[in-house]
Amino acid sequence: MEPLFLKPVFQEKIWGGNQLHTVFGFDIPNDKIGEDWAISGHPHGVSTVENGPYKGWKVSDLWSEHRELFGDAQGDVFPLLTKILDAEDDLSVQVHPDDSYGLKHEGELGKTECWYIINAKPGSEIVYGHNANSREELAEMIEDERWDDLLRRVPVKKGDFFYVPSGTIHAIGKGIMILETQQSSDTTYRVYDYDRKDDQGNTRELHIQQSIDVTTVPAISPALEMTEMKKGSSSVITYLKTDFFNVYEWDVVGELALKKDGDYTLVTVVEGYGHLIVEGQSYEMKPGTSCILPAQINEWKVEGEMKIIASTPGTK
Ligand code: ZN
Repeated sequence: MEPLFLKPVFQEKIWGGNQLHTVFGFDIPNDKIGEDWAISGHPHGVSTVENGPYKGWKVSDLWSEHRELFGDAQGDVFPLLTKILDAEDDLSVQVHPDDSYGLKHEGELGKTECWYIINAKPGSEIVYGHNANSREELAEMIEDERWDDLLRRVPVKKGDFFYVPSGTIHAIGKGIMILETQQSSDTTYRVYDYDRKDDQGNTRELHIQQSIDVTTVPAISPALEMTEMKKGSSSVITYLKTDFFNVYEWDVVGELALKKDGDYTLVTVVEGYGHLIVEGQSYEMKPGTSCILPAQINEWKVEGEMKIIASTPGTK
């Protein structure tokens, strides 16, 4: 069995830039690329396999027709989505619904997400949470556009990690690149978009009522229970174990041997170069390389000097 290497899907955004080319070396279609959907079964940008016996298959079709690759996991849709984001400008202040609201109102999963900061210009900030004490106060502060009072801003640097459960008001600030691991959903409720206009002079739609409905009040700041396991000069950092996904960093210096710890594993290189070795076959890895290790691969090795963000499905 071979790893399933995936072709990137680029998404143009009003806030996007060119670092997916300058930092990651991708051949991007223009200088406004905000997102690489690196590992996706979502219809708005589904990944295609680039190698091996499943070459040309879409991840969503493999999920439907070859569920054995995913350990015969349950569920109508491939549940995870890995993105690399380049915020040349600020993203809108936004919030995502949970599964019950998302399925009822949008016909898709809710969106719990988490971010590994790949790099950040000095002074970069995110919006993470809010200061309203009740839903009424939240509605009032939004209505009165008291953004400075409402929004909590947090400085960020390379290597930071944030858990963003559904219901968390958030925004990625300009100058930040992140790797995002999230539920497979494209439902975003925009609270505030800095009143900015696109090339045609149009503002983007806001979703004030939905935002007020789905925001967790008062805000919670979920504690991360990070652990680090040294393996020679390499290490495995566990950032999160949740109902939706488990997220790890493989910090590879020299070599790192790993065993399956979940039905299947999503793998994306965020920094450095090396190789992935499966059943004696060696595959080149460089920034942005993404693959799924299917259920049939029980052990593998990575070697070189790389930082990799890996994830496995949660219990939901
Ligand atoms: Zn988001």
